[in-house]
Amino acid sequence: MISKSKYLKFIKCPKILWQDKFAPQRAGERGAQKFGAFQDIRPLALQMFEVEEGSLSKKSASFYNKDLGVSCHADFLKSNEDGSFDLYLIKQTVRVKEEYLHEIAFNRFVLNSLGIEVKNCFIVHLNSDYIKNGELDKAELFLTRNITENLEDLSQNICESIKGAHEVLKEKQEPHMNIHEKCHGSRVCRYVNHCWAHIPNPSVFDIYDLKKKLDYYKKGIVSFADLKANDIPLTEMQVRQVDFYLEDKKPYIDNEGIKTFLNSLNYPLYFLDFETFQTQIPIFDNTKPNQRIPFQYSLHILKGKAKARVAHKEFLAKESRLQIRELAERLVKDIKDDNGSIICYGSDFERACINKMAEQFPDLAPRLKSIASRLVDLLSVFHNGYVYNKEMGGSFSLKSVLPALFPNHQTLNYHALEAVQSGEDAPAVFLSLKTLSPKQRKKMRKNLKAYCKLDTLGMVEIYFYLLSV
Ligand code: SF4
Repeated sequence: MISKSKYLKFIKCPKILWQDKFAPQRAGERGAQKFGAFQDIRPLALQMFEVEEGSLSKKSASFYNKDLGVSCHADFLKSNEDGSFDLYLIKQTVRVKEEYLHEIAFNRFVLNSLGIEVKNCFIVHLNSDYIKNGELDKAELFLTRNITENLEDLSQNICESIKGAHEVLKEKQEPHMNIHEKCHGSRVCRYVNHCWAHIPNPSVFDIYDLKKKLDYYKKGIVSFADLKANDIPLTEMQVRQVDFYLEDKKPYIDNEGIKTFLNSLNYPLYFLDFETFQTQIPIFDNTKPNQRIPFQYSLHILKGKAKARVAHKEFLAKESRLQIRELAERLVKDIKDDNGSIICYGSDFERACINKMAEQFPDLAPRLKSIASRLVDLLSVFHNGYVYNKEMGGSFSLKSVLPALFPNHQTLNYHALEAVQSGEDAPAVFLSLKTLSPKQRKKMRKNLKAYCKLDTLGMVEIYFYLLSV
C-alpha cells in the first residue's frame, strides 16, 4: 500500500523508499526530538472545524483504494451542498512548503479514485503575525490558504509516481541512483552514510563556500587532489584549505590581519552569547509563533590583557514565565555604558536579538541600541582567513575552531558536558524544565549554564590565542 509518506519518499528519492523496506539497518540516527520540545498543533487546529449531526464532513479520516494500492489521511474533509468535498491539511509551519502541495495533491488523487469529488484544497498553517494574549485565539492563530490552483501541474504525474513506487517496493534490486541535491535538503537524508560512503574525506563537498559542488562531482572532480589537478578556480581561502590538507602545512597566521582586528577592540572586552528558543504555538503572552525568544546569556568580561582579570556573569530565565524584560534589564546592567567592545561569534544573531528587545522595550532601547552598535564579530577573524589550520577543514563554527586551535584543552570540550552539548540541545532542555522534578531541574539548569559559559570562555581563549601569535 502506498501511503502519503511512501509517496513523498519516492518523489524525493526512490532509493529512500527501497532502503526503508529492504535495508533499514543502513539508516543513521534521525535528528532526535529531545526533551519534548515538539508540539502537535493538529488537535488545536481541528477545534476550528464543526461537524454537524448527520453531516458527511469528517475529521481525521483515513481512506484506501485496494485496487490501486494507495491510502491517505485527511485532516478534515468538509462536505459541500453539491455533494463535493473540500480537503484540509494542517501543518506545523508558518508558511506553505512545496512538499505540502505534493502531499495534498496525493490525498486528493486517492479520494478522487474512490469517487469522492474534491473541489477545493486548503492548507491550514500558523500565522506568523499572531500575538498571543491570554487564551489562544484559534481563528487568529491559524491561516487557511486555498491552494487548489497550485496543484494542477503537480497532479499530472501522480499516477505514474504511484506505479513507480509500487515497482520499487517489488524490486529486490536496489534502484540505481547517484547522489543528488536532495540528499542534504532541508532535512539530511538518513541514508547519507551509506549512499555517500564512496566520497573521500575531505572532498569537494567540504570546500568552504564553494558553489556547484555537485557539478564538480559529476565531472569526476571529487578529492582535493582532483581540484588541484584540474586547476579549478578557487578563492584564496579555498586554495589554502586544499593546500594545507595536501601539503600538511603548519597553521597559517596573518599577523597584519590579526593586528588590525585586535587594534579595533576597546577595553573592557565583553564576550557575549545568547541562547534562544522557538515554539510553533506561542506559550507566553506577547509572543508570536516561531518567534526566537532569548532565555539565557553568558558574558565574560575582560578588564585587561591578563587572564586573571576575567569576570563572568550570566542570566538564565525561570522556566515558568517569559523573562525577556528581565534578561534585557540585566544585560544593560552587566554591560556598562562604556566604550568596551562586545565580542560575539556570528554577531548577526546577537544583534537581531538585541534589536528585537529594543523594539519591545522602548525605555531600554537607547542602551540596547548602544550595545548592538558595539558588537564585534570574532568569526570574521576566521572568515577573513587571518588564522587557519587544516583541522578546521571547511568550517569556522566555534565547535570546529576550538578543537582545531586547542586540541588538548581540558576545559574547552563540549563532549565533556552533560546533557547540553550543542545549540540545538539548549532550547529543548530549557523547554523541558517545567516537566522535571526540582532535583532534575536544578541539575539541568546547571548544565545549561555550563554550556553557554563554555561558548564565551571559548571566545576568551581565542582572544588570548590571537594576542599570543
Ligand atoms: S542519501 Fe541521497 S541518494 Fe541516498 S537515499 Fe538519501 S536522498 Fe537518496
